[in-house]
Amino acid sequence: MRVAVIDKDRCQPKKCSLECIKYCPRVRGGVKVIEILEGEEKPTISEEICVGCGICVHKCPFKAIHIENLAEELKEDLIHQYGKNGFRIFRLPLPRKGKVVGLLGENGIGKTTVLQILSGKIIPNLGNFEKDAKWDEIIEKWRGTELAEFFKKIANEEIKISYKPQYIDKLSYYKGKVKDFIDEIGVKGEGIDELMEREMSKISGGELQKIAISVAIEKPADIYFFDELSSYLDIKNRLEMAKRIRELANNKMVMVVEHDLAVLDFLADYIHILYGSKGVYGIVAGAKGVRHGINLYLSGYLKEENVRFGEEIKFEKHPPREAKEQEILISFERLKKKFEDFELEVESGEIYRGEVVGVLGPNGIGKTTFVKMLAGIVEPTEGKIDSSVKVSYKPQYIKPFDKTVENLFSENKKRFHVLFEKEVLKPLGIKDLFDKNLKNLSGGELQIVSIALCLSLEADIYLIDEPSAYLDAKQRMKVAKVIKKVMEKEGKASLVVEHDVYFIDMVSQSLMVFSGEPGKKGRGGGPFSLRDGMNLFLKDLGITFRRDEDSNRPRVNKIGSTLDREQKSIGEYYYEL
Ligand code: ADP
Ligand code: ADP
Ligand code: SF4
Ligand code: SF4
Repeated sequence: MRVAVIDKDRCQPKKCSLECIKYCPRVRGGVKVIEILEGEEKPTISEEICVGCGICVHKCPFKAIHIENLAEELKEDLIHQYGKNGFRIFRLPLPRKGKVVGLLGENGIGKTTVLQILSGKIIPNLGNFEKDAKWDEIIEKWRGTELAEFFKKIANEEIKISYKPQYIDKLSYYKGKVKDFIDEIGVKGEGIDELMEREMSKISGGELQKIAISVAIEKPADIYFFDELSSYLDIKNRLEMAKRIRELANNKMVMVVEHDLAVLDFLADYIHILYGSKGVYGIVAGAKGVRHGINLYLSGYLKEENVRFGEEIKFEKHPPREAKEQEILISFERLKKKFEDFELEVESGEIYRGEVVGVLGPNGIGKTTFVKMLAGIVEPTEGKIDSSVKVSYKPQYIKPFDKTVENLFSENKKRFHVLFEKEVLKPLGIKDLFDKNLKNLSGGELQIVSIALCLSLEADIYLIDEPSAYLDAKQRMKVAKVIKKVMEKEGKASLVVEHDVYFIDMVSQSLMVFSGEPGKKGRGGGPFSLRDGMNLFLKDLGITFRRDEDSNRPRVNKIGSTLDREQKSIGEYYYEL
């Protein structure tokens, strides 16, 4: 079976010389395999007669065409196709009562499409995109299966649905207070009492996420969908939300998409991996138990399906040996900063060249204020910093503006270090996004572009605030590698504020830990070794991790379990002795 996808955002017939049509050997031979149909602006490929030579794929200057050959038997499993030469999804996961089912796969592989189908927002067309899809057809096709029974109920509106969308930023456009919003939806707003009197437009991303999840949990429904719950939440909030969702699943169906693997591990009972080719097609693999499913995903290889879909991601049980021979980049005395309502105290410390320092701590505890003091943007109330350093900063929330990615990089070029193309743009695949307007990028693409911009600028310290938001697990690994490499090669240092424990594990050589009372009083210390930093941080949270026997990856212990108690008694919260 041939799958030909034309990315309508990329294809720009006005800017190219129609290379795809010009060079197609079949067109040259007189067969109109690829042509611009009457009344249309962009070309169409007839998949039935295309020979899959791939010439158009290579000739298109905008990389708009993808051609893939798939096994014939998959045809039977086609669930939905977004129009002619559009993305398609094969197979579906099955929601289960009393269980949390997780979807795991890279961005653009069809996770949201699956959630939209199962929530009845998209009626699957089985590939017959030319007419309006009807529920009867899919019910008939899957007759006798649990899935057909499920769709019958969706079609008859016998199942009530609650859906937490991926992007929650739009909630901040709501005019009014949090309590007005909660009242309008008709829920109580449990667990967000402290936010009720605040204006929706003035609250942080983490707070919006909490509201969105709480509202979705409280909505009376039979099935609950959560399309990413972690973005902008700190670890404590992530685990609290995960716990509430687990409780919800006692007698309901729950399905989640989540890229923070420690959270997914804690949250889900079963996992479906989605694989295929990003933007072209996605296949939903069969259900696996959560431990095994995440291990498979990290291994990059699906044994049963015999498919390799990525590099292996590895973890170490023991922290790396410390090598502190490098030169000090910056040192600071004990620092204090007093704002009207907030007070921060940071112990003295030093940061070395080539080092990536993970910065751990809840939201609103003074992490950004500390870095701004290092950068000389905020004057400490007490204490001194030995020299002034130039800081390049990627903020937590990114606002897109109206220009292309290429413009963004060409305009700033004079401020970049010499190796930015080789060390940053290339490994992060930024050039593939050059033609796109920043306003049309997905959340994940915008995140990658912002990280790339930050890392390209000439600076001494790179402060990267929550780089993982909206990135899939693979992209997170890639970003972690690039950050480490730039620091090492350029002899600079990076402070990475992150709440995804697996990301922190991949990227950091040392840790700074902030604790206290968010919004009131914060205390920072470090950089510490990974072992000391993790112990300090997790002790404060009251959480321990054990190691998975097969993959060595850290897994959250159940509070009060034998392992949890044992580890707490010897003070080892994260690494093995
Ligand atoms: P994920 O959630 O895994 O990131 P999505 O389900 O959002 O993936 O998208 C999968 C693919 O489907 C993407 O390549 C996207 O361009 C395409 N797609 C999503 N929605 C539409 C749509 N309404 N029309 C055409 N293509 C779409
Ligand atoms: P984090 O980065 O850990 O989320 P921040 O350093 O951004 O925390 O903020 C810590 C606290 O300091 C917050 O309560 C914030 O409102 C307050 N704060 C930050 N900057 C200022 C300022 N310029 N004036 C007054 N309060 C501030
Ligand atoms: Fe031009 Fe590529 Fe679109 Fe063909 S697919 S019209 S070559 S941009
Ligand atoms: Fe033509 Fe080959 Fe492209 Fe098919 S893959 S449309 S045959 S150039």
